[in-house]
Amino acid sequence: MKKVQHYINGQFLDSKCGEFFDNINPMTGQLLSKVALGREDEVNAAVAAAKAALTGEWGQMKLNDRIALMYEIANEIDRRFDDFLEAECLDTGKPYNIARHIDIPRGAANFKVFADTMKSHADEAYQADTPDGRKMFNYSVRKPKGVIAVISPWNLPLLLMTWKVGPAMACGNTVVVKPSQVTPTTTSLLGEVMSKVGVPAGAYNVVQGKGSITGNLLTAHKDIDAITFTGETKTGEMIMQACSKGVRDVSLELGGKNPAIIFADCDMDKAIAETYRSVFANSGQVCLGTERVYVERRIFDEFVSKLKERASKIKLGIYNDETVDMGPVVSAAHRDKVLEFYDIAKKEGANIILGGGAPKMEGDLANGFFVEPTIWTGLPETATVVKEEVFGPCCHIAPFDTEEEVIKMANDTKYGLASTIFTQDLDKAHRVASKIDSGIVWINSWFLRDLRTAFGGMKGSGIGREGGHHSLEFYTELKNICIKM
Ligand code: NAD
Repeated sequence: MKKVQHYINGQFLDSKCGEFFDNINPMTGQLLSKVALGREDEVNAAVAAAKAALTGEWGQMKLNDRIALMYEIANEIDRRFDDFLEAECLDTGKPYNIARHIDIPRGAANFKVFADTMKSHADEAYQADTPDGRKMFNYSVRKPKGVIAVISPWNLPLLLMTWKVGPAMACGNTVVVKPSQVTPTTTSLLGEVMSKVGVPAGAYNVVQGKGSITGNLLTAHKDIDAITFTGETKTGEMIMQACSKGVRDVSLELGGKNPAIIFADCDMDKAIAETYRSVFANSGQVCLGTERVYVERRIFDEFVSKLKERASKIKLGIYNDETVDMGPVVSAAHRDKVLEFYDIAKKEGANIILGGGAPKMEGDLANGFFVEPTIWTGLPETATVVKEEVFGPCCHIAPFDTEEEVIKMANDTKYGLASTIFTQDLDKAHRVASKIDSGIVWINSWFLRDLRTAFGGMKGSGIGREGGHHSLEFYTELKNICIKM
């Protein structure tokens, strides 16, 4: 049986106590691999290695050499593209045709973009008069924050983990990563990449394990200088509490309940195509995905019927079938959670336009964690599936009459991560975008990303912004030096 190990101080290791847990293939429900379960010994060893590396070979490396190494990591991910693709698809159940275009290329790009940021960023400097008629000169320098704990989720495992590891390492920090227990493999595979390209031992460490055990031990460790976390809002609250001990910095990228606003003057084909992607891509397991769709009343029926027509053609199936649009959701527990929301929607009186349950799959896939692409209408704004993040392939569509009304509906949520607006009226697009409380607003598009831009959520969707030079704010300490001339 294949096993997935920790990567600590440049070595692949089992747990000292020899414990493993199961990694299940979400397409078949069968055992995929055994994963080492990290406890105190492994967390302590990884943090100690990361701390030592700050003053060792890694810490002493010149910026140019570090930048070159970041590029080498990206190139090696590209060289091992097929290994990463296979591992990511088996862990998550997502089809090749998603991971090939999104997860793996972005995993590599996350190292290049932050290497470029480090090369090009400018420090600030000010001159001013002093009270005694002379001058002072102030300038700032950045230094790495130290040992960064990276805790990542299962929906885009390599992409979201490297989104943090890339800038953390480019800035000269060392990292201890705890990936999600349901998608452990690509994080360990990245350890092979680090070894191959010559990243000094201790700069990149992985402790595999469960959130309630390994995650807790890591966030509580006194030698962790900052924690960067992507995951559920409830977990984010716990991590923020852990960070209060020792007054450590935290960056939180959390849940969402993202609205799409479709005005009657939109390009209908574009609105359908992009909303289809934003609702159903990756089986709806994208933090930036749409779960609430608001459509201007006079095109409501047309929009609902066209989205239904498009979504009813979704082909469910196995990852390596290039004609498959959608895989299962990531785990049995998540399938049960999504199906519970489907039941609640029914009980609360939703009109089920499409789906609403679990599909019948054939052969090996009969035990996979598949759920039906689902569209509801007719629920009040207070309904559970309109309020709570489902994180599945589903959306509720509601009509609206005025701009003011839809802005109010879109903002009536505890979250504020992303939103989309479809209209051909440029004034209206800018006006509405400025009034929506979310970290990202896409106009006539979805998931177009320039990695230099600020990324993060408002309200319950997170704290802080990462991306381009915004990541430097989190991954470095800024020091001001003042000299009297
Ligand atoms: P999760 O919060 O359950 O788990 C995320 C990570 O935290 C995992 O590695 C888990 O093991 C760990 N963890 C759990 N409890 C912990 C604890 N007490 N201490 C330390 N670590 C702990 O989230 P998930 O189910 O893996 O991911 C889905 C969620 O992530 C959704 O809510 C989604 O919206 C959110 N998400 C947000 C973004 C964003 O950029 N804002 C991106 C992707 C996913």
